[in-house]
Amino acid sequence: MSTLAQANGTTGSAPENGSRGRPLAVFVLIDALGWAYLKDRDFLPGILTHRSEVQTVLGFSSGAIPVLLSGLQPRETGHWNLFFYDPANSPFRWVRYFTFLPSFVLNNRIVRRGVRFISQRVSRFGGYFQIYGVPVELLPCFDICEKEDIYCPRGVPASIFDRLEESGVRYRSYSYHEFSDQEIIEEARKDLRKGKHDFHFVYLSEFDAFLHNWCKDGQRVDSEIRRYESWLRQLYADARAASNDVGFFILSDHGMTPKLGGFDLLAEVKALEFQMPRDFLALYDSTMARFWFFNEQARKRIVGRLRELDCGHFLTDTEKREFGIDFADNRFGDEIFLMNPGVLIEPSFMGTRGPEGMHGFHPTYDPCSSAVFLGNRDPGRPVQTLVDVNAVMREWIEAVASSNSVKK
Ligand SMILES: [Zn+2]
Repeated sequence: MSTLAQANGTTGSAPENGSRGRPLAVFVLIDALGWAYLKDRDFLPGILTHRSEVQTVLGFSSGAIPVLLSGLQPRETGHWNLFFYDPANSPFRWVRYFTFLPSFVLNNRIVRRGVRFISQRVSRFGGYFQIYGVPVELLPCFDICEKEDIYCPRGVPASIFDRLEESGVRYRSYSYHEFSDQEIIEEARKDLRKGKHDFHFVYLSEFDAFLHNWCKDGQRVDSEIRRYESWLRQLYADARAASNDVGFFILSDHGMTPKLGGFDLLAEVKALEFQMPRDFLALYDSTMARFWFFNEQARKRIVGRLRELDCGHFLTDTEKREFGIDFADNRFGDEIFLMNPGVLIEPSFMGTRGPEGMHGFHPTYDPCSSAVFLGNRDPGRPVQTLVDVNAVMREWIEAVASSNSVKK
């Protein structure tokens, strides 16, 4: 922490003018704020003087945000894509008793809503609970990785929130579990003015949904970015009024890639006429298909068929290792077929038609996948990965904690 403390010259010495001398940290996570959208654009110029491009991890927010919070890879936290293969612990186990019913009955909109509601109630999961378009008859094969609210202590192993709680730092985290983005900004500003906390983790999730729909409309993107910019300017002004030693950082989990086209991967697999879940299982996310095989013939023919396609490729063991998704038990898939940047699996279990923008393509081949890290001061270390961002947050937690102990 010494570099940060020295940069401002206040941490570690008794505050001269009450709480204004205390270090105050504000980390704002804006979902899907991609480097591609900021690199040629002003964004709080004069405030966010440090800017860096950050490589994301392969996948979606359910994989990337736990890396930000824990500093660990998916293989270490168990958090990656929402669904993984685990029939014994599936919150949808009870659905097995109804799988004799025809698929059109099980997948009726009202039945699906009921299945989701009952499963969430029975399992008492407080995290991100969605069943998207996964066929109801397949749900009993899967468990979901986000069982708890990850913006709270014990939501993710080794989370910054565990450390915050243990350190006794006065902190607050804000997320969609309680508020809309606008309400979060209002709430955080109120708290800053009252000087209630020394560490703020502010998660704004709605920019992601906006970009999914409008990433190709330059004018709309510009005005939405200006809207977030004006919120952040207000937040920063309140933080500066509360402390002379403010660390104000904007981070994101991944970017957003404009859609180039869709490809009907399901049709390719269906044509081979193997049965789910008897011969194999497939989960069709929007940018990747994950397969589990229970029959060698199915493996050979499905893998062989997809290898002939030029819309994507099967991840190699080296890629899985690099992406931190080399799970020993293959719970997220025996084989993972990743689509080329911009090409969506259409239809997929995420919907019949994909949106105008998507994330979850190859983190190094796709320039639109990069996230950002921006700050009002130099973080004192290179910030190139989500793990680096976690390290900066941890340094600020320790700075705040040590300033509190000096004060006592
Ligand atoms: Zn998204």
